[in-house]
Amino acid sequence: QIDLTNTNILVTGASRGIGRAIAQALAKSGARVAVHYNSNREEAEALARQIGGGSQAFGADLGTGQGPLELWKAVEESFGSVEVLVNNAGVAISSDIHKDDTEWLHDWGHTMMVNLNASALLCKKAIAHFQQRGGGRIITISSRAAFRGDTADYMAYAASKGGLVALSRSIARAFGKQGIKAFTVAPGFTRTDMAQDFMDQYGEAYALNDIALSQLTEPADIAPTIVFLASGLADHATGCTIDINAGSYVH
Ligand code: NDP
Repeated sequence: QIDLTNTNILVTGASRGIGRAIAQALAKSGARVAVHYNSNREEAEALARQIGGGSQAFGADLGTGQGPLELWKAVEESFGSVEVLVNNAGVAISSDIHKDDTEWLHDWGHTMMVNLNASALLCKKAIAHFQQRGGGRIITISSRAAFRGDTADYMAYAASKGGLVALSRSIARAFGKQGIKAFTVAPGFTRTDMAQDFMDQYGEAYALNDIALSQLTEPADIAPTIVFLASGLADHATGCTIDINAGSYVH
């Protein structure tokens, strides 16, 4: 039984989908969770009340330069310390390569801002905090798309997720001697609003076609791995990526 009592954990994008399941599982193991949201304040506040243990909701738009900094400050001030950062919030914007250049670049920039830049800034703040405290863990949600690529409309998404893997591995190598561990988890199709948008565009059959287990992954299939990584039991796997894609891509 994993015990995360006295462990404060910030989970970004915890208002719904995978982040919500992660927050629930961490709290069930005793963690106090900072439930981050962007637009879904009511859901995040209701979740924080439901999981209890001193968990609290924190709002911030991670599509801005200030958002991640304000989020970290608010959580640190409120919780006093943070032991684990889970970078989960993300966007997948469909953007046709034949679109007007300015619009395409805007989509590219927003994807990078939320998925990569915001995570990098939160990592920067977390590393400084962990250095003072003698260690900590960063778990980042990447994607299968980082390794096998994505469709033409989602190239920015795949590139941002590849960037997260490189960022996480760099942190593991650069700061391991200071007790900082970094991991990435790379889900395949997981039944959330994000996957629904993709399936509305390409059809569920497309999503299921190459999945060995012939079923979509559920958010609850991802969450236990995050609890495991947060616990310290996997610390000697620092730098690794764990694939959770129902056998749709193995590398
Ligand atoms: P959802 O679309 O269901 O949820 C996205 C979450 O990110 C929400 O909590 C949302 O907050 C938050 N978010 C979106 N935009 C912003 C922003 N500008 N600022 C701050 N927060 C924001 O996504 P999933 O649960 O499916 O995805 C979670 C993670 O898993 C993402 O990183 C995604 O890339 C990754 N992933 C998902 C896969 C899938 O098939 N679902 C596959 C592989 C990886 P709010 O609700 O408050 O707006």
